[in-house]
Amino acid sequence: MIIQKYTMIDNGAKKYLEYKLDDFEEIFIEIKSQNYLKAEELAENLKKSFNDAKNEAISKNDEEYANIFYLLDIYVDILNSISKLWQLLDNMDYPTSWGQLQNAIDGIKFLKKYILNPDELQINILENYLENLEKYYPYQLFGSPEYIFKKEECSICGRSPYDPECIHITGRLYMGEVAITLHKDLEDITGFSLVKNPKNKRCILKIKDFKKEEVEKTSYNILHTLIMGLKKPLLNFEGPVIKEGLLPREYFNTYDKNDECPCGSGKKYITCCYRRKYIKQTLYYYIKKEEISLK
Ligand SMILES: [Zn+2]
Ligand SMILES: [Zn+2]
Repeated sequence: MIIQKYTMIDNGAKKYLEYKLDDFEEIFIEIKSQNYLKAEELAENLKKSFNDAKNEAISKNDEEYANIFYLLDIYVDILNSISKLWQLLDNMDYPTSWGQLQNAIDGIKFLKKYILNPDELQINILENYLENLEKYYPYQLFGSPEYIFKKEECSICGRSPYDPECIHITGRLYMGEVAITLHKDLEDITGFSLVKNPKNKRCILKIKDFKKEEVEKTSYNILHTLIMGLKKPLLNFEGPVIKEGLLPREYFNTYDKNDECPCGSGKKYITCCYRRKYIKQTLYYYIKKEEISLK
């Protein structure tokens, strides 16, 4: 097997560090209680222990456990990102929250490559939860720049990946580190394209200046409605189920006559649905499910 697979809660790891499901569950509990700073403090402490344990494993040339502690550290990073994500969502800082959501999703995708059982530590459920959240953001198109680099380097040995002396396989773990090709010395950006489903979704097109006070008028309205409905972090849900529907006019009281009509026609509100009793809307339903927890 080229890519190694591991179990995260591993009895053999005890020779370096005693850790248990409860250590992670505590972070879940703090996030769910919206004690984000406490959650992040617990995460920091756990990361420190995992790093110390990893270094001890490295000093004994024990690659298996160096890799396991490396993966545990990444799992805690994911929980950290979820905590930061919800802190931003609670503050209605929706545009900034996108970056933390992407951090968490990237972490999960990475981790899944190395996990024997993706149900362990609720990794599958967390992935599903985060990807459902992602669908409520207003981003449809992403910028995708194309780069040229002067130099490529193996992250483990520093040689060029074309150098026959470099024996490292991309994606494989070596003593608690992943082998990747590092791109160095940016020479030029040769193009910029808009794509629907890039690997890296961090380059977003700014839609409008975002104002919290007028969130209903922005394209973050769908996300806002979801967050207000869920009320708390790590409550799992299924969605969105998209349906056409009608909402009473009063729902759009914050709209000015000269604003764009909430029906999405692109016309001015006054010349479109302003006098109607009900206004056509695309409605995004979701179904609340159980809280995500490790036990
Ligand atoms: Zn190498
Ligand atoms: Zn209209």
